[in-house]
Amino acid sequence: MSTCAIVGINWGDEGKGRMVDLLAESYDLVVRYQGGSNAGHTVINDFGKFALNLMPSGIFRKNVINILGNGVALDPEHLCGEIEKLRKAGVTITPENLKISDKASIVFPFHKAQDALEEERLAGKKYGSTKRGIAPIYSDKYQKKTLQMGEIRYPEYMKSRLHDILEWKNLILGGVYGSEKYTDEAMWEWIEKYLVPLKDHICDTGAIIEKAQKEGKSIMFEAQLGALKDIDYGIYPYTSSTSPLARYAPLGSGAPWVTVDSCVGVTKAYSTCVGEGPFVGEWFGEEADKLREAGGEYGAATGRPRRVGPIDLVATRYGVKVQAATEIAITKLDVLSYMDKIPMITAYKLKDGTITRDFPFTPELYDAEAVVEYMDGFRCDVTKVHRYEDLPAAARKYIEYVEKTIECPITYVSVGPNRDEIIVRK
Ligand code: GDP
Repeated sequence: MSTCAIVGINWGDEGKGRMVDLLAESYDLVVRYQGGSNAGHTVINDFGKFALNLMPSGIFRKNVINILGNGVALDPEHLCGEIEKLRKAGVTITPENLKISDKASIVFPFHKAQDALEEERLAGKKYGSTKRGIAPIYSDKYQKKTLQMGEIRYPEYMKSRLHDILEWKNLILGGVYGSEKYTDEAMWEWIEKYLVPLKDHICDTGAIIEKAQKEGKSIMFEAQLGALKDIDYGIYPYTSSTSPLARYAPLGSGAPWVTVDSCVGVTKAYSTCVGEGPFVGEWFGEEADKLREAGGEYGAATGRPRRVGPIDLVATRYGVKVQAATEIAITKLDVLSYMDKIPMITAYKLKDGTITRDFPFTPELYDAEAVVEYMDGFRCDVTKVHRYEDLPAAARKYIEYVEKTIECPITYVSVGPNRDEIIVRK
């Protein structure tokens, strides 16, 4: 059996979905192991263009088993909507090709409501939440106050736990935020409408993985977001509430005994970030608008304009390290083709004047200045290039410089959003 994780090296939105869609062909299982419906993995293939929120990106490939692991925050209402859209586009989704962990925590409407209410309360100090209930569900999970998908098989047990959880949650929603209360009846109706239809997909995903392992099958782990949004290793508190690291993949899949053999870290040829928090070297005004337009940098899940800047080699080198990436896919090289000079952040100048190439602790990021160096641009359309040696010399020089600086081989160069717009460099 071989296992591979496809993960984000930066702030998310690096193009992981397009890489999983491309590589899933050689894997038997594709597993989402963390995060929730706040993901927006854009996939363009023969079925059309999709922004997958919860669905693993392997769903388009025949014979691939897709898994939503126990580490996922699962909103059944959202998943039902996604399944319907995909089926309309001709994608086959059955209990055979989509498995949901019985231990995945359920995102209820009150989690989403709490997320929005808290963001409203924070006013000028908000985190930039996608309001998909992610922070409330993960904090409730660690307080041992969530329901798990598999509980639907034990309705009386589930009803009684739902009652206890609602009693507690209504105290918070009513007391802290003065919001409406959620009744047992309304939430049970919601369960019947959205969770019951998923019942046949729910299983012990660890057992599926174990069986696959015994049969020598290969597994791909698909992360959401990127290293800098990791709850422990990211720019806390402007992180997600979960771990998008490759090392977490087996734990969030249901099979903690599995090891990750290889890790493809996905990074962009420039930087983008959604949400709040320090973002060293951020561009504003006309320069930012131009890059945002060229790259179509608007959130796949939310439509929000993304913050943009030059490739940040300090943050990227850090991302490579914490992801333990064994190889890199660099995406959106084609977007740089309008630039005469390609900017790169090669170091940070800290408040006390120190120049560093190591990613600093979050408070230091606010006053850090980007040290920017430039390389020659390549000024031509590269989207139809399939062989590395056919790229313009300036583009190759840029790739090789990045590779040397981040200390990890770049094995894929993506030159367009479509499945075949890729250069494999192995
Ligand atoms: P993910 O969440 O990491 O999967 O990334 P997103 O889907 O949010 O954002 C990546 C965006 O870039 C999507 O719109 C992709 O279609 C697009 N994309 C991916 N690779 C390339 C590429 O090489 N060139 C261009 N122009 N677009 C790309």
